[in-house]
Amino acid sequence: MSCPNCGGDEVFFPVPDAVSDYLPDERPAATLCTNCLHVSPADEAPDEYPDFTRVSDAFPADGETGAVFACLLALLDRLVVHRSDAEQVATEAERRGVDVLLVLDRLAADDGLDPHLDLARRRRQLEQLI
Ligand SMILES: [Zn+2]
Repeated sequence: MSCPNCGGDEVFFPVPDAVSDYLPDERPAATLCTNCLHVSPADEAPDEYPDFTRVSDAFPADGETGAVFACLLALLDRLVVHRSDAEQVATEAERRGVDVLLVLDRLAADDGLDPHLDLARRRRQLEQLI
């Protein structure tokens, strides 16, 4: 599979139950681009969570927690529409021990990525919410 936005490689992950209610798409899985961090819904969930540190060392090492964070990236893409959902998913990530603002900083600073969203701006907007 390749990213519809940039053609980069994607990792494929099941959407964790803890955050599925907050996503605009009902599908059970999604893909995350290893280059631009674009998230797309997918129809069939893989059995296991992938290693998100393949995308960036900034990602949580635990696969399910990485998937929660990837879902947050999907919502940050359209934060104006999904404010309260993004807040809920960010809270879930924090509950799992992730400092979401720090991870966003580290992703923004990762030279191996070419994010399609303005991570620094989204970080500032998210900071107002949480
Ligand atoms: Zn991409």
